[in-house]
Amino acid sequence: MSDDRLKTILDDRDSGAPISRIVRAMSEWGALSGAEIARRTGLARSTVSVALSKLRDSGIVVELPEQAEASKGVGRPATPLVLNPEAGTCVGVHLALDELRIAVADVAHSVIDEQSVPLGRDYAPEAAAEAARSAIASVYAAHGLRPSGLLGVGVSVSGPLRPDGRVIRASILPRWAGVNLRDVFGPVFERPVFAANESNCAAIAEMTWGAAAGEDDFVLFKIDVGLGGALVRGGTVLTGIAGGAGEFGHVSIDPQGPLCRCGNRGCLELYAGFGRPLDELARIHGRPLGMEDTILLAEQGDAVALRLIEDTGEIAGRGLAMIGNILNPPLILVTGRMAVAGDLLLAPLVRAYEKHILIKSHDLPANLRTRIKLGHFTANDALLGAVGLVLKGQGRLG
Ligand SMILES: [Zn+2]
Repeated sequence: MSDDRLKTILDDRDSGAPISRIVRAMSEWGALSGAEIARRTGLARSTVSVALSKLRDSGIVVELPEQAEASKGVGRPATPLVLNPEAGTCVGVHLALDELRIAVADVAHSVIDEQSVPLGRDYAPEAAAEAARSAIASVYAAHGLRPSGLLGVGVSVSGPLRPDGRVIRASILPRWAGVNLRDVFGPVFERPVFAANESNCAAIAEMTWGAAAGEDDFVLFKIDVGLGGALVRGGTVLTGIAGGAGEFGHVSIDPQGPLCRCGNRGCLELYAGFGRPLDELARIHGRPLGMEDTILLAEQGDAVALRLIEDTGEIAGRGLAMIGNILNPPLILVTGRMAVAGDLLLAPLVRAYEKHILIKSHDLPANLRTRIKLGHFTANDALLGAVGLVLKGQGRLG
């Protein structure tokens, strides 16, 4: 495919034409059978058939490569189809503490490359945009990708973001507060810019490549040094009117409690995040230890590390029960670097959730119980979610 028909179709996101709806669904969900496309788009099977045959003739849609062989002899009733990986690419940029992380994926959801671009602390927006442009140009050249196939750029940032793309607060990147991401990245790439905070990007990554694939409704609860969250409803990450939805970490559970970095007191993050346990561990061991060290110690049976992880799970479970009583979600994903602790964290968390939730599991048949499980990603989800924003067409600025 040498032209950019796919880009033209995807750029018109309001089009109700069957071909546009099918292409959007395939960009959003990846490989789909004809029946799944009909279900996702609400189009009649016959309409889907006609449109798919046009899309296959023009090379925009192809059979999922690994399925092509298997489907020959077995006569599978539903052959999964994907958008032609050569038809378009998406870029994700994660604004990390002292570096940019960038990823490039094709429209069939394969991640082609990931890179880090060191920038030093407190880097300026203009420097980041130029570094991103240059790094992405190198990646495209190295993989022989067409620059004109770029569909859009997704950006993930740690900190709340207004729907127009303005960063409200960026504690780790002070120079980005008040900056509009569209103004920074739009002119450099001349393509649509998509953006979300990193917890919302984590939810997008779990939906696109992880533990929430095929799930339309879930809560993401990210336990790291801080505490992040995201709410997904009907496959869409909820942002609220000003981008403040899902900020579970800053629900105050004790108005007289310790001061939080956000300026409020007694935020859940101070109790269920892993910042304070790391301070306690450093005091006991006489040297700073990270989350990985703590998990390793716990796996070796260290009583202090075990207790700190158990306490964190317990408080997180209690916090999640508040969210559960409000939303009653079908699925809760526990992610973040502490999720590497696995059952050491999850077992006390599930116990505490059960203890504090109104409707207990034993009152319900299996299909009505809230499932609580570990996410797929413990790192890199903010970056992959930034790419996923473009694929899913969420968080588009302007
Ligand atoms: Zn707070």
